[in-house]
Amino acid sequence: MTYTLIRQYLLIQLIIIPMTLSLCNQKFCDYCSKKLKGQYIIHKNNNYHNICYDKHIQIYCDQCGLKIEGSYNSSKGNQYHKLCYQKYIQKRCAECGDLISGIYNIDNGKEYHEICYTNFILPKCDVCSLPVDDIYIKDYWKNFYHEYHINTMPNCDNCSRLISKALTGGGYSVNSQRYICNICKPDVIIKDIDVQPNLMEVLIILNSVGIKNIPSKIPITLIDSRDELIRLSGNKSGNIQGYTNYVATTVSGKIIKQEYHIYVLSNLHRIIFNAVLAHELLHVYLFQNQLTDLASDIREGFCNLGSNLIYEHYNTELSKYRILNMNESQDPDYGLGYRRMKKLLDREGWKRLLSRLYKM
Ligand SMILES: [Zn+2]
Ligand SMILES: [Zn+2]
Ligand SMILES: [Zn+2]
Ligand SMILES: [Zn+2]
Ligand SMILES: [Zn+2]
Ligand SMILES: [Zn+2]
Repeated sequence: MTYTLIRQYLLIQLIIIPMTLSLCNQKFCDYCSKKLKGQYIIHKNNNYHNICYDKHIQIYCDQCGLKIEGSYNSSKGNQYHKLCYQKYIQKRCAECGDLISGIYNIDNGKEYHEICYTNFILPKCDVCSLPVDDIYIKDYWKNFYHEYHINTMPNCDNCSRLISKALTGGGYSVNSQRYICNICKPDVIIKDIDVQPNLMEVLIILNSVGIKNIPSKIPITLIDSRDELIRLSGNKSGNIQGYTNYVATTVSGKIIKQEYHIYVLSNLHRIIFNAVLAHELLHVYLFQNQLTDLASDIREGFCNLGSNLIYEHYNTELSKYRILNMNESQDPDYGLGYRRMKKLLDREGWKRLLSRLYKM
């Protein structure tokens, strides 16, 4: 009896244990929590219905739309196949086309490797050919260079170009004080023999606007040193390029003789030389007509009209550059005075301006 009981107990035990085992084996979908039947998917130790997995767990490439298995790239909340990411999403250098990782440069909305940007995109210095990424100068002649070159290279006395192998093919110095570039060199006036034909040319141009009765036999001397010219003129203007010495001989208050001597800086470009000459010849004109009491801004402003006339006559880039300088000059006489007289000239014309001088 006792034996039977034990057997029955065992039997019950044997029946109950497999049932609980089968109850414990029942798996549930980790997405929808419903029972899993048949095939299901195990992902990161979780179980899912196939359909739950495909719809909610499986990630898809935001570029090509296909499933992503294994490792992937994510960017701005999107996921991509590694290849899709490299091909379509990752930054590429606009210069070399290769992928960019790490530091890069943006210019005009385009992205570049730092090295590509420096070597190919940054503008190059016209003087030293190195990339320019800091302060630069763009001159009137469209040369572009590092600002620091102006501390080591002189400017041409005529055109202001930085005298260097690259910009001007070099140049030369006059008295180690003034420098002339090799672009201006073929046109500079250094020989006395070149003076007379240019004087004639300037007299003709002045004559064409009604400035007559200027003596054509005025001695003209070329002076190498600006300091010497400043000394001769007694003028303090550092930019002086010409000077007219005037001596009037009077007998009992009446002028019986007027003598002139014009000094012009040597090595001036022919156009500038002629402009300086025209300025000095207008001084002669004023002396000839006894217009000696004009205020300095009217006097120098008027004489600069002669320079402007010459520059407009030749109308070269150098002429335009020099006119620009005159238009930007803040000198009370050569800049402001000139512009006031130029306004008057533009309004009245030469003939009326010349007669108005007597009332100024
Ligand atoms: Zn499910
Ligand atoms: Zn993809
Ligand atoms: Zn690159
Ligand atoms: Zn440079
Ligand atoms: Zn020059
Ligand atoms: Zn003057």
